[in-house]
Amino acid sequence: MRIFTLPEAPNSTLGKIEKNLSENLMGFLKENIVAVEKPLSEIEKDFQAYQIPAAPSFVSDYAEQMMQTLIAHSVHTSAPSFIGHMTSALPYFVLPLSKMMVGLNQNLVKIETSKAFTPLERQVLGMMHHMVYGQNEPFYESWMHSASHSLGAFCSGGTVANITALWIARNRLLKPDGDFKGVAQSGLMRALRHYGYDDLAILVSTRGHYSLGKAADLLGIGRDNIVSVPCAADNKVDVAKMREAAERLEAQNIKVMAIVGVAGTTETGNIDPLKELADLAEQLGCHFHVDAAWGGASLLSNKYRHLLAGIERADSVTIDAHKQMYVPMGAGMVLFKDPEFANAIKHHAEYILRKGSKDLGSQTLEGSRPGMAMLVHACLQVIGRDGYEILINNSLEKARYFGELIAAQDDFQLASRPELCLLTYRYVPAKVQSQLNEAIAANDAARVSEINTLLDGLTKFIQKRQREQGKSFVSRTRIIPANNLEQTSVVFRVVLANPLTSKEILQQVLDEQREIAKLDTRFLPKLLAL
Ligand SMILES: *Cc1c(COP(=O)(O)O)cnc(C)c1O
Repeated sequence: MRIFTLPEAPNSTLGKIEKNLSENLMGFLKENIVAVEKPLSEIEKDFQAYQIPAAPSFVSDYAEQMMQTLIAHSVHTSAPSFIGHMTSALPYFVLPLSKMMVGLNQNLVKIETSKAFTPLERQVLGMMHHMVYGQNEPFYESWMHSASHSLGAFCSGGTVANITALWIARNRLLKPDGDFKGVAQSGLMRALRHYGYDDLAILVSTRGHYSLGKAADLLGIGRDNIVSVPCAADNKVDVAKMREAAERLEAQNIKVMAIVGVAGTTETGNIDPLKELADLAEQLGCHFHVDAAWGGASLLSNKYRHLLAGIERADSVTIDAHKQMYVPMGAGMVLFKDPEFANAIKHHAEYILRKGSKDLGSQTLEGSRPGMAMLVHACLQVIGRDGYEILINNSLEKARYFGELIAAQDDFQLASRPELCLLTYRYVPAKVQSQLNEAIAANDAARVSEINTLLDGLTKFIQKRQREQGKSFVSRTRIIPANNLEQTSVVFRVVLANPLTSKEILQQVLDEQREIAKLDTRFLPKLLAL
C-alpha cells in the first residue's frame, strides 16, 4: 500500500506542493513561489529539449525543477478572483481521492481490469440519469446494471459526449433495414441511398458549441450541414426560425437527423426553450439532443432546476461534471432517455467486450478509460444534494448580484443578463454610452459600428492587461449584445463558480478594469474625442 502514502517527506518539494494544493484555497502555491508573469515565449525556452534524457533523475530534483518551470507559471484556476472560465477551484478532498484512483489504475473499458469500478460507473450514470429524467425505482432496478442496456456513457468531456449522442442519432436514423445492414456497417453513402435522402442536417442555434462541428465532420455529415439558427435578443434559439429551416430542408429532401438545444450556452449561459424544441423534434420525428455540458449541473438545485424544464424530454443529454460539479477534468457524460439507445453503437471484440459481457467499452467511443466516475461519485456523496443546492444557488445569486452591480455603474454595460451563473459585459465610458444610445436610436449603423470598433479595442486591451497583472481574470468573447443594431462586439465573460468569490472581489474586478482603461492610449482617447 506504499502508493497511498506520501512518496516524499512532508517537507520535500512534492510534499509541499501537495499540502498547498490541498489546503491553500485562496490560490495555490502563492507563498512558495514568486509568480512573475513570464511571457509564453520565455516559458517555451524551458521546454525546448527534444531529446529524451538518457540518465534517470531523482524525483526530488525533478519536482524542484518543475516547481520553477511549470508550477510557477501555471494558471491559478482556483483563485477566487479567477472568474473567466468554467475551470475553477476543486474541493480539498478530491486530491487524495484522485491519488487513490491513479494508484489503483483501473481501466473501465472492461470488467477484467475494473471489476467494482464498472458497477460504480453505472451507478453514477444512474444517479445522473435520475437527476435529468427522474424515472421510478423499477426502471433503475431493471436497467442500471443490465449488460445489454445503458443509461448513458461516461467519457472525457462534453465534446466526446456530444459526438456520442449524434453518433447514436445517426445510427438510429440509418438503422439496418431488410438487406441493408445499417450505416455503421455500410457507410453513409449507401445509407442515404437506401433511405432515399439527399443529405442529413443537424439544427442548432448560432450559440451552439464548436464540438458539434467536430461531430458533424467525424460522422460524415459535414460541418456545412450543421444549420445555424439565429437567436432572439436573449441568446435563446428562435424556434419559429428553426421550424422554418427544418421545413426548407425537408422540402429539399434533406433529412433533419437531430435538433440540438443548448442548456447553458458557453458564451452567454442562456438556455434554449427546451419544451418547444421537444415539440418540434416530435413533429419532425428526429432525435432531440440537449447540450447541457455546463448548465446541466443546475439541475442539482431544487430552487433553479425549473430553468431547464423540458430537458427530461430530450433523447440524450450531455453533462460535464468537470464544469459546475466541482470534479477534476476528464468527467463528461451523455445520458440516454431510452436504455436501448446505446445498442446503436455497440461493438464487440473477441478478447474483450464479448457479447453479453458487462464491459462498458462496448458502448463507448473511447477505449481505455480511467476511473474518473469515482470522483463524480465522491462529489455526489461528500457534497450531496444539499451541498450542491447551496453551491449552485450561491453561484446563480452571485451572478445576479454582479449583473445588477454592473448595470448600476454609469461606465459599464451589461451585454447579457445572467440566467445561470455566466454573464457578459463591457466597459463603456458614460459619455460614450450616451453617444452610442443616440446612434442606436437614430438607427445609424455606421456610427454604431465606429463606436463598437473602438470599444472592441479597449475591451481587448483591458482584458489582456488584467490577465497579465495576475490579480484577477475574466475572459472575453464576441457576441451580439442586446440592443446593438445586430452588430457583434467584444465583451468580458464571467463564469461564477468558486464559492470564495466575494462581493468585494467582484467590486475590485470592476475597479481594476476602470483603472486599466485609463492606461489605454490607442482607443480611449479616440472614444472620448468622439
Ligand atoms: C464545455 C462545453 C462543451 C465541451 O465540453 P468539453 O468538456 O470541453 O469537451 C460542449 N458544449 C457546451 C455547451 C460546453 O459548455
